[in-house]
Amino acid sequence: MKYNCDLISDLLPLYKDEICSEASRKIVEEHLAECPDCKKILNSLNDVTIDEKIVKEKEEVINSQAKFFKRKSAFAGSIIGLIFSIPILVCLIVNLATGAGLTWFFIVLAAILVAASLIIVPLMVPENKMLTTMAAFTASLMLLFGVINIYTQGRWFFVAAASTLFGLTMLFAPFICFRRPVKNYLKKSKGLAIMCAYTATFTLMMLCIGLHVKEPMFFPMAFAIAMPLVAMAWAIFATIRYIRANAVLKTGICITAVGILTGILSHMTAMASVKEATNGVVMYSDPWLPLMLSIGSIGVLLLGIGALISAFKKGNKNENK
Ligand SMILES: [Zn+2]
Repeated sequence: MKYNCDLISDLLPLYKDEICSEASRKIVEEHLAECPDCKKILNSLNDVTIDEKIVKEKEEVINSQAKFFKRKSAFAGSIIGLIFSIPILVCLIVNLATGAGLTWFFIVLAAILVAASLIIVPLMVPENKMLTTMAAFTASLMLLFGVINIYTQGRWFFVAAASTLFGLTMLFAPFICFRRPVKNYLKKSKGLAIMCAYTATFTLMMLCIGLHVKEPMFFPMAFAIAMPLVAMAWAIFATIRYIRANAVLKTGICITAVGILTGILSHMTAMASVKEATNGVVMYSDPWLPLMLSIGSIGVLLLGIGALISAFKKGNKNENK
């Protein structure tokens, strides 16, 4: 053999893709005629090409299947939409025929929109299905509340809407924040965004309830009770998310905070009820205080253990250095 196998195997990929020079092609072919080893290498190169082809074909099949299912689900969505429009039409005619104008028809319409938001929207929307479905569901639910409120001439809309919004946020916010496209915008502040959403919708709900009940003592009382709880939730969140410490120390911080804050809270409510019952004469007893104190002391104990653990670890690190 004129050329050694290493040289030829370097040329083989070029030969296989037919991009080598005429001279190289001749050399390779002459060598291949007498060398079974290099022939084998060439065959294995061709096998790789076949693998690549299979992968490509697989992707094409998957893509065309996905397109097929998208078209199918859009079709199913329009069929269900048509079916939903039948009761809407019937109610429209009945309402017009029996009443002086359109009244309860709007309730039926809004109710069917709620159902449609859960069934049709995920079928028809090509991307971000979950986000769009949740938004459509929330919007149609608010619409339903609004329409019923107008029809019954109630004044409960804002309370119902704000409370529902708070509940839905509690449920949906984690799912929304941990999914594309919201996930990409929030990056590392997903937890913060969820906490902000909870606080905002909770505040909105309390505001709506306060304005609805028109009780002068509502806002001071609600503020006094809700503030420590909200502060506690934030303190726990901030501790777990942002403080760099061992788990025992973090647990200690959280439990201490819970003990102190619920202690303050139960103290305040006990004071208020005592004042109410005895016309301001202080005969104070707080049945929850011992419990809060023991929770607090468990927290402090964990704080101590956690601090010891981290001090011990630091000592170990320094020794290793
Ligand atoms: Zn060879």
